[in-house]
Amino acid sequence: MTATAATRRLAIAVLILAAIAAFFFFDLGRYLSLELLKSERDTLADYRTAHPLLLGTIYFATYVAVAALSLPGAAFMTLAGGALFGVLMGTALVSFASAAGATLAFLVARMIIGDWVQQRFGARLAAINAGIDRDGAFYLFALRLVPLFPFFVVNLVMGLTRLPARTFYWVSQIGMLPGTLVYVYAGTQLGEFRISLGLVLAFVLLGVFPLFARKAIAVLKARRLYAHWPRPARFDYNLVVIGAGSAGLVSAYIGAATRAKVALIEEHQMGGDCLNTGCVPSKALLRSAKLAAQFANAREFGIVSAQATVDFAAVMERVARVIKTIEPHDSVARYTALGVNCLRGTARITSPWTVTVRDGNTETALTTRSIVIAAGSRPLVPPIPGLDQVGYYTSDSVWNLRELPRRLVVLGGGPIGCELAQAFARLGARVTQVEMLPRILVREDPDVSAQVQAQFEREGIRVLVDHSARQFLHAGEEKILVASHQGHDVRLAFDAVLVAVGRVANTSGYGLEELGIGTTRARTVATDGALQTIYPNIFACGDVAGPYQFTHTAAHQAWYAAVNALFGNLRRFNADYRVIPWATFTDPEVARVGLNEIEAKEKNIAATVTVYGIDDLDRAIADGNARGMVKVLTAPGSDRILGATIVGEHAGDLLAEFVLAMKHGMGLNKILGTIHTYPTLAEANKYVAGNWKRGTVTRGQWAILDAYQGWRRGANGLGAVIAQLSALVRDQRPAYASDAAEKVDRRAAAGASH
Ligand SMILES: Cc1cc2nc3c(=O)[nH]c(=O)nc-3n(C[C@H](O)[C@H](O)[C@H](O)COP(=O)(O)OP(=O)(O)OC[C@H]3O[C@@H](n4cnc5c(N)ncnc54)[C@H](O)[C@@H]3O)c2cc1C
Repeated sequence: MTATAATRRLAIAVLILAAIAAFFFFDLGRYLSLELLKSERDTLADYRTAHPLLLGTIYFATYVAVAALSLPGAAFMTLAGGALFGVLMGTALVSFASAAGATLAFLVARMIIGDWVQQRFGARLAAINAGIDRDGAFYLFALRLVPLFPFFVVNLVMGLTRLPARTFYWVSQIGMLPGTLVYVYAGTQLGEFRISLGLVLAFVLLGVFPLFARKAIAVLKARRLYAHWPRPARFDYNLVVIGAGSAGLVSAYIGAATRAKVALIEEHQMGGDCLNTGCVPSKALLRSAKLAAQFANAREFGIVSAQATVDFAAVMERVARVIKTIEPHDSVARYTALGVNCLRGTARITSPWTVTVRDGNTETALTTRSIVIAAGSRPLVPPIPGLDQVGYYTSDSVWNLRELPRRLVVLGGGPIGCELAQAFARLGARVTQVEMLPRILVREDPDVSAQVQAQFEREGIRVLVDHSARQFLHAGEEKILVASHQGHDVRLAFDAVLVAVGRVANTSGYGLEELGIGTTRARTVATDGALQTIYPNIFACGDVAGPYQFTHTAAHQAWYAAVNALFGNLRRFNADYRVIPWATFTDPEVARVGLNEIEAKEKNIAATVTVYGIDDLDRAIADGNARGMVKVLTAPGSDRILGATIVGEHAGDLLAEFVLAMKHGMGLNKILGTIHTYPTLAEANKYVAGNWKRGTVTRGQWAILDAYQGWRRGANGLGAVIAQLSALVRDQRPAYASDAAEKVDRRAAAGASH
């Protein structure tokens, strides 16, 4: 930039700032008020009749100045345009003045800092610039039509982009026209200054206009998207579902149940991850592992001669048998009987209405009104040097093992890593679990992680937190993992490594890129609340859509995706994520619904935390499982449950009571008022509610009861009672010092309903 250009810019900037400062200093905003317009209405009307051109010119120039200087008052000026000049002339004046003023503001922003912004942030703005080059006019049109952002903000921000000024002008002129018309019309009614049907209509129009505009934008957007693709005259299917895992199966089921013609395409195995490589095999493996652990602890139960010899191959064969037993639930036969056309092969979306299925050398094209993407996820394998050379297992391949690795490294301290680490350790492997974060199960509260880690260590698992896997190598016959811990290298020899550091959604290779369906920062398919992608007839659900990676959330989302795909033209439903439970099936199990303490803190949500220790529970003691806790977060001063975490035997099952309570708005008082069978683990839920209740009893309330009972015994006269009450009743301190101080008779409490 030359020195003259820089000086000119500075001068203009100073002039503009001076004009803005003068506006505020002299309080010129007081002239832009409806009150003033009302009081001067007759004078202005006379003036308009006498000098229409002059008033029009003054009005036009003022509007341009207000818009160009981004002063507050554009909405007033538009209403005044209607009040002074009527609908036709008012709309014409406002339309040209607002577009001209907006373009001046746009040019000023561009001239003063536009170049600087592009130079300074050019690299980071690359994506925005590309978007503006491609779709800038459309973005601006949408912003003008749906006034989500203030008028002046749009002018200034657009000035910082590379949108051509000419485009900015004409798009603004056209895009603002419908809104201008509505506001000017409202202005003509304000000119009447009395409540009239027209005035009411004007306000109704102002209210509904953004809704109509948004709908119009959605229709326009969809038309632009679909314009690239030829639309079939007729469709083979109402719904094509890609992937027959938990999400795809439920989508297909909903489709068939609502009499839709549905095709379900699976390239690998019906049932997907959950049945074949996820929930089912892992829980079957954990069952064998638990039995082995119970044998190891048999002496504690008085059984002195039990001894477990694990035949690992037989354990894995049982796992395979369990899968086979459950397989029919998810089979082609079952879904075909339900009316679904099950196709084997790899699906590819070739247009918003066409999916091809490739099976070997055969390719079939299907046309469909709607598509549900349920392509799932796969294990994430981090690019650690040497990993490929030493070889590794993931949750996809570990089920093929038939020989127990002597020394197993489990990379990852999340739910899958923890479940499999404990299972393999209990079956006899020497397991080292390596986690780069400071604790395992890092999404749970620290006390939860600590309880699970303590149990793991008791069982002989070496848990290395804060260890980051840096390299794998061969040293002679040995396989070695080099992990970095607090600046030092730690070398671990192993026979097999299981990589369990997370799962990544399957989003490439089947047409999403070609259709321009984007992904989120979490690398899942980008959808809106109704699970719709940018195409109104293409939806996604399950692991591929996130944000959760559970079978039950996949099934939950699938209902919304399928219903919206089939009936979205009538009504759409946003997926409801308010109450999402989950469990990690370690021993002790960890189950959670809603908030825990760390999330409450992160989100700055005030919560009362109540804990009940399961070490105190009769049934847990009798079973030899007296460890764990129930922790509940409630809204302060209320029994409304914000979240619950349970650690212990059958935590996943026990959680159901809290899930139900949260879903249906029942608080801890309702759980406390429910009879729980004695002796069961479920009583823990009632006891945590009891602990919460006792925490609400104040010393003042105790004082009232003391005085009442004393009076009933004749120990206190009425005067003494009143004196005692007035002194103590305002004492709001908790009556019970701590949960542990007060023991309750379990048998009595189990039957008591309050
Ligand atoms: C070890 C382990 C344990 C787990 N334990 C639990 C648990 O206890 N509880 C729980 O709730 N969740 C658990 N999960 C998670 C659960 O398995 C997943 O969240 C769930 O299976 C996701 O279902 P989905 O339908 O979204 O995906 P998937 O089950 O992965 O199904 C996607 C399907 O799409 C197919 N596919 C992909 N692309 C194409 C294409 N182009 N054409 C045709 N077919 C295609 C795939 O072959 C696959 O079958 C566990 C996961 C693992 C790995």
